[in-house]
Amino acid sequence: MSESGPVQYYGVSARGRRVPQGERVFVERNGRREPLKHIVRHSPTGFSWGYAGSGPADLARSILADYLGLRPLEVRSGFYSPGDIPEIDGGLYQKFKFAIVAHLTMSEPWIIEGEVVGAFLRANPPRQVCPKHREPITPGDPLGYCIGCDDEAGRTVA
Ligand SMILES: [Zn+2]
Repeated sequence: MSESGPVQYYGVSARGRRVPQGERVFVERNGRREPLKHIVRHSPTGFSWGYAGSGPADLARSILADYLGLRPLEVRSGFYSPGDIPEIDGGLYQKFKFAIVAHLTMSEPWIIEGEVVGAFLRANPPRQVCPKHREPITPGDPLGYCIGCDDEAGRTVA
């Protein structure tokens, strides 16, 4: 929700095949179009849609990451490994896949308005993480500290 202007995601006919990165899925914001960055986890060969598989999982994850302005971790952080996106991993992007991406028609062009993504995220909030460490904030911690903050401060973790 770092975007201020309208955003729209769309794909052109892929006839059910996976398509190379950036070739057939685009994001347009404020009238400017660019290929959607493929953040690879399940499907190195590309995005797909219209069923609940690995290409759709990567499409769902890449759309959410783009919409929220999130990049994968580059280094290990606590429970997370490089490539993880703590805010949306752990089920959230799979839920978006089942709710939206799997219902697109496989061989047809599609559009997902940013408002649809926003509504999904309001109903299914991303994990709240420390902005510095991107670790989940310790439950009940009124100051919003994470385990990384505790380590730095030498606080004993219960
Ligand atoms: Zn922290």
